[in-house]
Amino acid sequence: MRSVMKYILSGLCTALLVIGTAGCSGGPKASTPEPATLPVIGPDSSVPAGTDQTSPTRDQTEPETAAPTEPTLPSTEGTSEAPTQPRTTEAETTAPRPTDPAPSVPDVAPDATNFRTEGTNGYVIVIDPGHQAKGNNAQEPVGPGASETKAKVSSGTASRFGGRAEYQVNLEVALKLREELLRRGYTVIMTRTGHNVDISNIERAEIANNANADAFLRIHCNGNDNASVQGISIYYQTPANPYNGPLHDEAKALNASLLDHMLRRTGARNAGLLESDAYSGINWCQVPAGLIEMGFMTNQEEDARLQDGAYQMQLALGMADGVDEFLSTRAPKNR
Ligand SMILES: [Zn+2]
Repeated sequence: MRSVMKYILSGLCTALLVIGTAGCSGGPKASTPEPATLPVIGPDSSVPAGTDQTSPTRDQTEPETAAPTEPTLPSTEGTSEAPTQPRTTEAETTAPRPTDPAPSVPDVAPDATNFRTEGTNGYVIVIDPGHQAKGNNAQEPVGPGASETKAKVSSGTASRFGGRAEYQVNLEVALKLREELLRRGYTVIMTRTGHNVDISNIERAEIANNANADAFLRIHCNGNDNASVQGISIYYQTPANPYNGPLHDEAKALNASLLDHMLRRTGARNAGLLESDAYSGINWCQVPAGLIEMGFMTNQEEDARLQDGAYQMQLALGMADGVDEFLSTRAPKNR
């Protein structure tokens, strides 16, 4: 609970972005100083004793006031044309040699949304690489039937140390996770495969809902005014969430597995399991979901790791391990 007390909504977004509101999918606006209304740390947020627990901060970047975008073409249609058959590669037509690399998986189509690749084990995982090249400040309801609205999608945080922006890192990790999950037999749907798309947080959640996903992983990086803050945290709904509270227990089970395995693979700090009903991208979910904050781009050391392909692979492997564990005791929903 210590983190709760220390919780600070610091509004750092991108270096140049207006400080705004927090939350990857529509957090409260900055003008409504929030700690009171904001996330509650799960009672069991498992922070190992003695760890230097930093104050988890939401990805402040979501509903921010990024430069309004010209509306781009809705990308939710025509996106289900993803090839569903694995690409045949040369390697598959010849006897494997000991030096052959891991089997390749079908490529993604550029800048697609709702991009599905079939697997073999019956489980469907939806991966949502947070944000996109340009945010969209048009408003959408924070939850089904809600009068409160949030920006459709913000542009996210960014490295302050010369690295790439959050939306880029998010996709890099998401594509690694996709490959790993496909290798493990899962059907994988990407909410986006490129940066030049325009999909709102509701639309991203609906992709997971429509697929009746066994798990929905929303991939983000975090930011904080305090440059010393670092670590991995995962957000999901409280049991009292008016839109999907009954999914709390499943989400918690999923995210506990994800966090545990991500920490094991990466050695990153544990910034906790965090419960919040402020994210539209969570509130609209009707499947187990987690908003994974992989680390703080405002911490120079952690940002350097987030920018590193080998570290990104460990993040992805940790998520895949967590998915494996969570689903090991659950039958495929779509079979
Ligand atoms: Zn984000």
